[in-house]
Amino acid sequence: MTPPRNSTAIRDVASVLHPYTDARAHQKNGPLVITRGEGVRVFDDQGKSYIETVAGLWCAALGFHNERLVQAATKQMRQLPFYHGFTGRTHEPQVDLAEMLLERAPVPMSKVFFANSGSEANDSAIKMIWYYNNAVGRPQKKKIISRLKGYHGVTIASASLTGLPYNHKFFDLPIAGILHTGTPHHYHNARPGESEEAFATRLAEELDAMIVAEGPETVAAFFAEPVMGAGGVIIPPATYFEKIQAVLKKHDVLLVADEVICGFGRTGEYWGSQSLGMRPDILTCAKALSSSYLPISAVMVNERVFEGLADGSAGLGTFGHGFTYSGHPVAAAVAVETLKIYDEIDIVGHVKRVAPTMQDGLRALAGHPLVGEVRGMGLIGAVELVADKATHANFDPALKIAPRLVKIAESHGLILRSLPNDSIAFSPPLVITEAEITDMVTRFGAALDELAVTLRRESLA
Ligand code: PMP
Repeated sequence: MTPPRNSTAIRDVASVLHPYTDARAHQKNGPLVITRGEGVRVFDDQGKSYIETVAGLWCAALGFHNERLVQAATKQMRQLPFYHGFTGRTHEPQVDLAEMLLERAPVPMSKVFFANSGSEANDSAIKMIWYYNNAVGRPQKKKIISRLKGYHGVTIASASLTGLPYNHKFFDLPIAGILHTGTPHHYHNARPGESEEAFATRLAEELDAMIVAEGPETVAAFFAEPVMGAGGVIIPPATYFEKIQAVLKKHDVLLVADEVICGFGRTGEYWGSQSLGMRPDILTCAKALSSSYLPISAVMVNERVFEGLADGSAGLGTFGHGFTYSGHPVAAAVAVETLKIYDEIDIVGHVKRVAPTMQDGLRALAGHPLVGEVRGMGLIGAVELVADKATHANFDPALKIAPRLVKIAESHGLILRSLPNDSIAFSPPLVITEAEITDMVTRFGAALDELAVTLRRESLA
């Protein structure tokens, strides 16, 4: 037990209910207080520096201090700190941002709706799909399919889409009409000897069977992250989206690409949809949209969906959905500046150049006695720890192996993120240099060795 170190820590324990934290353990252990950031590093209240291996929450793409984003925010705050988009009002930053997103979209898109978080974007997409199907006269076509281990947020509908137990248990979720199909993780879910292609065929057949069993006239949409993030950084098997999309097309089911993590270069293309061959009808994004300096998210819809929404709103007299802060001018101005910076520094080219250093560096750890699978693409990856390399069996979750590694890594100057199945995620700021990647991977290797020694001492490995 580390006692809280200073007054911020003590006040935190007394006052803050933390997201995604064991509240009881937090009362004993206290917080890690982060006070400032610089490039890919953050500093705690003792002045200790850490490489942020997940860019905060897969999001601070330009790192932790970017003066141009500060300037963009202050300039817009002085000019027009708030205005909204209800009843046809608008302002320059939201129009600029909508145009920039449509120009960069992976497939032709028609309009952009703004929200404040990934969860809100996905909830908005669900509501748009329901509204659309009512508007086009098929009110029974409402069910939505997502995947086990997919992550789409925590609001009531988006948490229902999310396919992870912690997001459902005790919350009485998922809501009715949201179904989950299989996880495209070859390492754990393929049958012995099954090729990636054969596994992808089986997953597509399972989806087809689910849609047929439910009745295709009742199934509206399929939500997918190009690369699953919080569920474990899962790269789908070869041919997966090609086969899934054929099934969706057959049953006239819309595809929603959740690009909240993958968008803006993370996978080595501008969009994960491009890396994975997805042609979405609706695309949601957030996080790197503003490098997370301010909260903003977006939902892009294609012409077909927009036309349905427009007809529906004409009948009702309004599209009855929107947030006070939809397209907030300061957040939009920061996002516009962020996208300009991505263009100027050729973020996709940079990721393509430095990604092999991260992917090869992590893959070099595959022989480590604790490592089962190393996976990833672009600047997203995961190292999964296993108890048995031959059977791919994980450690007993009660042993909290990955959380122990996260703790050890702090003393090596790394902030790590552990995911289900004892996987450690890597999703550093996109501006990370090759030297910084090498430093990150070296420190990670040292932390892993230290964990192995500790586990051997405890006869656990
Ligand atoms: N979708 C994906 C793919 C995500 O990774 C996340 C957040 N990690 C969300 C949606 C939800 O975003 P938010 O936390 O901003 O609500």
